[in-house]
Amino acid sequence: MITPKWHIKKNDLVMVMNGKEKGKSGRILRVLPEKEKVIIEKINFIKRHSRPQGQQKRGGIIEKEAPLHISNVMLLCEKCNKPVRIGHRLIEGNKKARFCRKCSEIFDK
Ligand SMILES: [Zn+2]
Repeated sequence: MITPKWHIKKNDLVMVMNGKEKGKSGRILRVLPEKEKVIIEKINFIKRHSRPQGQQKRGGIIEKEAPLHISNVMLLCEKCNKPVRIGHRLIEGNKKARFCRKCSEIFDK
């Protein structure tokens, strides 16, 4: 089975396909290949209590994006405006690029 993890890179626009954030889209901020997870801008916020540190007496609540498993997201084609399957092809002779199987839009330019 081909895992989708190599299809997704930083700054890609993706849509969440499962879980409580289903249907939301955002840009990939970070890819965590060893965990097979991604962090998406403004998606899956969790509240964390920050501990008081050093001189600061007060802790607080900070909101932070939590990683989502890569199998829960799909690359979003901006042209199709929907999550799409992608393929790979060579462009400019030898450069590997991802493209939308629906409209053939190339993602890696
Ligand atoms: Zn497309």
